[in-house]
Amino acid sequence: MKRIGILTSGGDAPGMNAAVRAVTKTAIHNGLGVVGIRYGYAGLVAGDFVTLTAENVDHLISSGGTFLYSARYPEFAQKEVQEKGVEQLKKHDIDTVIVIGGDGSYHGALALTRLGINSIGLPGTIDNDIPCTDYTIGLDTACTTAMQAIDKIRDTASSHHRVFIVNVMGRNCGDIAMRVGLASGADAIVVPERSYDVKEIAKTLQSGFADGKDHGIIVLAEGVMDAADFKTELLQYGDFDARASVIGHMQRGGSPTVTDRINATKMGNYAVKLLLAGKGGLAVGMKGGQLETHDILDLFEETHDSEEALIDINEEMTK
Ligand code: ATP
Repeated sequence: MKRIGILTSGGDAPGMNAAVRAVTKTAIHNGLGVVGIRYGYAGLVAGDFVTLTAENVDHLISSGGTFLYSARYPEFAQKEVQEKGVEQLKKHDIDTVIVIGGDGSYHGALALTRLGINSIGLPGTIDNDIPCTDYTIGLDTACTTAMQAIDKIRDTASSHHRVFIVNVMGRNCGDIAMRVGLASGADAIVVPERSYDVKEIAKTLQSGFADGKDHGIIVLAEGVMDAADFKTELLQYGDFDARASVIGHMQRGGSPTVTDRINATKMGNYAVKLLLAGKGGLAVGMKGGQLETHDILDLFEETHDSEEALIDINEEMTK
């Protein structure tokens, strides 16, 4: 092995930088060079490369975003474009690549492996929507940010005896909503994975107010519907004041939490060890706190399993 290329692709997530740092430090420790590829696959094809050293990644453990930048570059699905990327890698003496991104980005890692560049995928997305892993880099920071926002929303909700419908990110995956809902003591968690009964939710809130509760919080996954539309539905069945609130992109930013820093570091370190062992075409995941690998190809056959038990536990908390 000569040099490892590393890129971040798809949506950014807090902890991506910590993973780049871990890859760089592990590689250097093992006598390998590391090249940062800027702007995902677009930068790979354009040859937008920067040599990484232990010094220039030193400060990265605490920073959000991705200092390598990210880009959407659908052209990389075409074989001739992938071959151009491989040419750039060869020109720069790079024979292995680590890709940090979502499952779309894994397609690129698999394509590179098939073209002779062993590549490993690390799960980097706040959405936690990748199959064969119950954790993705950035999930914990996004949940913490959303939880802290809801803690603040609760203050104003209580002051005015209001219900707040809080829209959290996650695209079509309800994992952020499930975690944040339980962690915030929400009255209801509404996610794409489960059917919901808006009339029942309104009834729960109404009886909460009747019992002396001074506010209500509904955590709504963005994959279900707009918070404003949900409010309209809810108010058909409940006689209370309600507001819709969208936390938005602040969930994608910020300094990564302890969990994201540690897991990103473990995953980055592990990815280099896999490459050193001659492996490629693999995705790193985590189950029950243990690192695992899966063939990227197998991963495309699977769907992500959400921890739906969190919703059941939350329902018991609201009784
Ligand atoms: P996120 O879930 O955070 O959005 P993602 O990796 O799933 O991340 P995508 O936009 O699906 O995001 O993919 C990111 C990039 O991966 C694309 O812009 C493209 O460059 C590359 N990519 C996606 N699909 C393929 C494919 N079929 N073949 C090769 N490369 C692909």
